[in-house]
Amino acid sequence: MHELALAESIAQAVRRTMEELPGRTPVQVRLRLGVLAAVDLAALQFGFAVAARESGWDGLVLEAVCVPAELLCVECGARTETRVAHGDCPVCGSSRTMLHGSDELEMESLEVVDGNTEHASRNDGDSPEATGAA
Ligand SMILES: [Zn+2]
Repeated sequence: MHELALAESIAQAVRRTMEELPGRTPVQVRLRLGVLAAVDLAALQFGFAVAARESGWDGLVLEAVCVPAELLCVECGARTETRVAHGDCPVCGSSRTMLHGSDELEMESLEVVDGNTEHASRNDGDSPEATGAA
């Protein structure tokens, strides 16, 4: 699956960054995600959660900032913003629309905490896996 491969490549980028930050724990990755990248964010987050756990980062979450595209209606000329990769004109309902936007997918920021902070240890205590039924 597309999203799982993406999730793994993001996790690899995090690993590379963390190698330069010994003693720190990543807590949040923020992506910029263009509408035209057509990524299923829920699937991406699921895949990333698995990859993060394998790396021992149970509390690491993936957030995405959606970069909207412009929907241009061929029928009525309306220009509207959209956050989905297909769409009918919201003004006249025509399906004859063109989409101008970005397919970017890049890591905007990576938030890390000191390995010994409250934040990191809280994640240990709250983790449902710690007391799991397995
Ligand atoms: Zn229209």
